[in-house]
Amino acid sequence: MKKWVIILTAVILYFTPLRFVSAKEQPMQVHFIDVGQADCILIQTPQNKNILIDAGDMRSGPKIIQYLKSHGVMTLDALIATHPHHDHIGSMPDIIYNFKVKAFYMPNLTNNTRSYNLLRQAIKDEQIMVFNARAGNKIEVEPKVSIDIIGPLAGRYETMNDYSYVLKLIHGKNTFLLMADAGEQSETALLTKGINVKADIIKIGHHGASTGSTLPFLKKVNPDAAVISVGRHNPWGYPKRAVINRLKYLKIPTYRTDLLGNIVAISDGRSIRFTYEETKRTDPSSIYFDRMNIIKKVNTGK
Ligand SMILES: [Zn+2]
Repeated sequence: MKKWVIILTAVILYFTPLRFVSAKEQPMQVHFIDVGQADCILIQTPQNKNILIDAGDMRSGPKIIQYLKSHGVMTLDALIATHPHHDHIGSMPDIIYNFKVKAFYMPNLTNNTRSYNLLRQAIKDEQIMVFNARAGNKIEVEPKVSIDIIGPLAGRYETMNDYSYVLKLIHGKNTFLLMADAGEQSETALLTKGINVKADIIKIGHHGASTGSTLPFLKKVNPDAAVISVGRHNPWGYPKRAVINRLKYLKIPTYRTDLLGNIVAISDGRSIRFTYEETKRTDPSSIYFDRMNIIKKVNTGK
């Protein structure tokens, strides 16, 4: 009997300091998962909510599933499809069949393609709740984290890319502007309407295509760093030299998944630091998160 008391006391003492540590606010992590020539962003919040924005192309499923599982994801509190192109929704059925999805957000767009039809089928099979949220809507994630849908604004655009959701992820004082594949027409609409696009980090639109990331827009966003989700040796030559030159001209440090692999921005609500999979350049087969190093602290100027 006495032995049990000793063990119990030891356990309590052992766990007390841990409990104290865990009471400290966790950071938010924004993972730009390297899915080649496609987009996939995982947000893990301080209160352990998981949000996935886009899900790569049709080949990305196994990698995304493995990545999410290795980061403890079992449930997605929100799954967001920025627009119904195959390099953004391609593996969404895999995600829907493998994880519990509490809410699904997508613009009110249809696309008569195989990937879109498979996505509709998966939503139906799993009876996922769908919200056709629009610009002006806000997703309140938890007290310090929210996602503002700021685009696309009402209007006629020539390409489906310009109908992409433009999302402003806010954590405390930090903001991330996630452009999906939005280009010049959507950017111009945002600037014309005087929408506040200022952000600490920008996820460059359309994999660095020169159809967007115009100089006036980048100047208004005035970010401390940019991320480009783009495939190695892609046939379109993304990111385009013109876009890279604009980022260089504005002295915006740029993180590219084709060069760095998975990239993670870690936000404490006031400053942001980046980690990435630095072995990618020498060992393209490496996809392991645990090899990442902290490389930069972005001064958010606040
Ligand atoms: Zn795309």
